[in-house]
Amino acid sequence: MSHEAKNIDVCIVGAGFTGLAAAMSLARAGKSVIVVEADDGPGGLASAFDLADGVRVEKFYHHWFDSDTHLPEIIGELGLQDRILTAPSRTGMYYNKQIWRLSTPLDLLTFKPLSLIDRIRLGLLVFRVRRITDWRAIEHLSVREWLEPLCGPAAFRIVWQPLLEHKFSIHADEVGAVWMWKKLALRGGTRNARGGEQLAYFKGGFGDLAQAMADDATRHGGVVRYGTRISRAMTEGQRVTALKCTDGSEIRANQFLFTPALPIIADWFSDAPSVNAAWLASLRRVKYLGNACLLLELDRSLSPTYWLNVNDPGFPFVGVIEHTNFDDPAAYKGRHIVYLSRYMATEDPVWDYDDQVYLDYAFGHLQRMFPQLERSWIKDFALWRAPYAQPIAERGYSRLIPDRQTPFANALIATMAQIYPEDRGTNYAIREGRAAAHALINEQRC
Ligand SMILES: Cc1cc2nc3c(=O)[nH]c(=O)nc-3n(C[C@H](O)[C@H](O)[C@H](O)COP(=O)(O)OP(=O)(O)OC[C@H]3O[C@@H](n4cnc5c(N)ncnc54)[C@H](O)[C@@H]3O)c2cc1C
Repeated sequence: MSHEAKNIDVCIVGAGFTGLAAAMSLARAGKSVIVVEADDGPGGLASAFDLADGVRVEKFYHHWFDSDTHLPEIIGELGLQDRILTAPSRTGMYYNKQIWRLSTPLDLLTFKPLSLIDRIRLGLLVFRVRRITDWRAIEHLSVREWLEPLCGPAAFRIVWQPLLEHKFSIHADEVGAVWMWKKLALRGGTRNARGGEQLAYFKGGFGDLAQAMADDATRHGGVVRYGTRISRAMTEGQRVTALKCTDGSEIRANQFLFTPALPIIADWFSDAPSVNAAWLASLRRVKYLGNACLLLELDRSLSPTYWLNVNDPGFPFVGVIEHTNFDDPAAYKGRHIVYLSRYMATEDPVWDYDDQVYLDYAFGHLQRMFPQLERSWIKDFALWRAPYAQPIAERGYSRLIPDRQTPFANALIATMAQIYPEDRGTNYAIREGRAAAHALINEQRC
């Protein structure tokens, strides 16, 4: 059974920010485009869900930085600039049973766990980072090999190592220096005269923004089909002819753009007769970590900090993010929204914890950080798991990244694992989605 007409120019798989940005560009250019999405709504990792009373909130916390230009640009194209909310970042670090403010260089100077010399060295890191203009020069190094000599062993052990271990879990030692260098370079480059940092958010949430992007694509003639999961690609020689969905339907188009994680794409092609085995292996070679994100609805605030890095050994979470210290609790009917984020391998037994068991496990850790916290403060909770949440940019990652062009003449891939030397993020998803759309248009494939 073929569900779609044969004259669709482009079929995009995935209504995350990459797929939607591509769909907007193609639809606005007058191309016939269909977006096929497994979930029941748009946004992918940046999608939202309804709390019990219908208030919408993101499954995984999101904001953007001043260095991000593609997000405000697309928001401008949608005419929604008035929904951009900006605020100075309120960042802190939990270390040695204490919360340290770490929003400005002045805060850094009072960070007592480090000696004064180490604090100064850490502060000067941003200038040493700026001196590197070609990331290829450090691509053979791990983060530790590059950073420890620059900031000293104490600063590495107290500040950077816990961050790496929480963010990259079992892969912490494999992460390439380029990943850290780019983070430091981008964030160091946007600080104001007093060293402070500005963060931005879309009022109503990234889920609303995704919906506005999907609506724009449909207003320009595109189709977005939710609740449709692709299970297989059908090929003839070096062309993809159709995609098979789990409901048995097939989608035919002249061109295809795939945006889900690389191993998911590899599975669609695993029994295709003409598939290039080396290409399939390259898709499976990139490693990912999952993220389990616990959202707590509290009746009061935990702390004045928005983004609290957890640097104390023995705490499994990368951060405690009190979203309503950035966006107004009034937008959530007075609730205080706190995310507790943990990156881990999906083989980790904690990944499969039942939701209630996970809440108990997380609550114990959170109460050690905030001894005044009581169970009665939690009015409700949700646990979201994303198995492909973070690709691992290993040493030499540029040689591992699959090309946008697949061995099939009419199929491209644009996924968050191909964003480099920057890390994945909605801003770069928009950049890559648009770049893929422009490639399709400029190469006159559609
Ligand atoms: C915990 C966490 C925090 C983050 N914080 C930020 C932040 O603060 N700021 C920021 O900018 N970014 C942040 N990100 C990253 C950001 O969410 C992603 O980079 C971005 O959303 C990726 O968009 P994408 O479209 O490339 O991929 P995805 O959002 O993964 O979209 C892929 C889509 O494909 C669909 N799909 C998968 N398989 C199939 C199938 N078989 N058939 C049909 N559809 C399928 C999925 O359902 C999904 O909708 C965060 C991510 C996580 C996990």
